[in-house]
Amino acid sequence: MASIVQAGEAVLRKMARPVPREKLGTVELQAVIDEMVATMRAAPGVGLAAPQIGLDWQLIVVEDDADHLESLEEEDRRERERTPLPLMAIVNPELEMVGSRQATFFEGCLSVSGWTALVTRALEVRVRGLTPRGESLDLTLSGWPARILQHEVDHLRGTLYVDRMHSRSFSRTELAQQAWKDRPVGDVARQLGIVLP
Ligand code: ZN
Repeated sequence: MASIVQAGEAVLRKMARPVPREKLGTVELQAVIDEMVATMRAAPGVGLAAPQIGLDWQLIVVEDDADHLESLEEEDRRERERTPLPLMAIVNPELEMVGSRQATFFEGCLSVSGWTALVTRALEVRVRGLTPRGESLDLTLSGWPARILQHEVDHLRGTLYVDRMHSRSFSRTELAQQAWKDRPVGDVARQLGIVLP
């Protein structure tokens, strides 16, 4: 398991390099992916990008499994469109927003540990890239899985959610949970003086 790089480290602000073709299908690439998956699960988190373990490669892993989702309240799951996202490793992902619908929710990052903020993101995205074995991959995702993909692909461009957040909502995670749990996002934004798009 790797330790997770925290905001302030240069690697989180660089453009990651495409994974070279000759790495596809290798034991070396699979070992990196295995380490990323173990690190993500231990955190625990629902996604991890290679720069978060200090490696400037365009590589992400994501997983929001059904077991984890069962521990969340039904209302939370529904509001966030939090549907299961099976474990996937995506090499050299490219993202395209689909449609103009957006949603705003609290979001956190394993590299900005202990903090959370409201972030507005597209509700639907198309992701193209490669599997670790080099097969092409083309997926359209919506709801929470679309948010996870946007967050992770941002990491590969040196972008953190704090660059996109509604800064007035930036809070310690435990305080945001105490203050805003079960409150509709529209109310939270109003109370914080945030005008949602
Ligand atoms: Zn992150």
